[in-house]
Amino acid sequence: MLAVKLVLHQDIEVVGYHFASAFCTCHPNGCEKTSRRLSERLQIPVHLVRLDEEFLEMIRHQKFGFGHKMNPCIDCRIMTYRKAKTLMKETGASFIVTGEVLNQRPMSQFGHTLSQIEKESALEGLIVRPLSAQRLAPSIPEKMGWVDRSRFKDICGRRRTSQKILAQSLGLLDELKVTGGCRLTDSGFASRMKDLMTQEKWDLHDIQLLRIGRHFRISPERKLILGRNEKENRRLKTFLTEGDTYLTPVSCPGPEGLIRGSVSDDRIAWCAGVIAKYAGSKTDMILKITRDHRKELLTVKALPEINFKPYHIR
Ligand code: SF4
Repeated sequence: MLAVKLVLHQDIEVVGYHFASAFCTCHPNGCEKTSRRLSERLQIPVHLVRLDEEFLEMIRHQKFGFGHKMNPCIDCRIMTYRKAKTLMKETGASFIVTGEVLNQRPMSQFGHTLSQIEKESALEGLIVRPLSAQRLAPSIPEKMGWVDRSRFKDICGRRRTSQKILAQSLGLLDELKVTGGCRLTDSGFASRMKDLMTQEKWDLHDIQLLRIGRHFRISPERKLILGRNEKENRRLKTFLTEGDTYLTPVSCPGPEGLIRGSVSDDRIAWCAGVIAKYAGSKTDMILKITRDHRKELLTVKALPEINFKPYHIR
């Protein structure tokens, strides 16, 4: 937003593209709301572009490795810029503006990486970074005088002090949020993602499931997911597909459980014991087991934590 403002102040027309994926930290289904808010605050058109499948493909075939967690930032930036290049042509735009800050993020925002990303996305010289422009080699729009480089900033590094001052002067202080990146930079989500990638097949549906619950790898191909609250219990149920088993506490409130894929009766009883433990059950607990359109009741005792702790993905 700050970068766009600096360009708008030079009477340059800007069209915004808000890239979203299953990994972004917008509120679920809130991406549209975010795009609308950006558009209202900046007074420019902002289009929402979902990159769900492209993002998954990029992770599957990433070339430049992962960051501190499971964030493939360099590949991600290349993918985003390639998409932006297509949109630039469709829009009839002359160049791209981003809010990247030199050295702000490890991996993707070091000087040499910014150049590498430009090269890989075939956008050399066509990316303007108003927040750090004075510390970077001039882009084509700066050399050609399409934009006035002297009115851009020289921000560098991880501290956000300069951005805060700028946001205040531009009336955007309330928008300043310091985030560490998408969900792939979150350690819990990253562990679940790493585990998912051990599976031969996974898709967007699986990624969405990673966003809720406690996950347990109960066999190389099977997983148990428990809701952590009522809201997650309700959401968990929407992920039930053919071949899955669903466990619902009956005798006392507690987490509901989804077992992905078919498992033995013994394994179901074991999973029910885990649920009983999280439900805090001190005596026998009754659960409803739903599988293959059949429903039955099962009575179990809570399993000691030591028995299932090694399977908890975190
Ligand atoms: S933090 Fe996530 S969204 Fe941001 S560049 Fe890295 S992988 Fe992409």
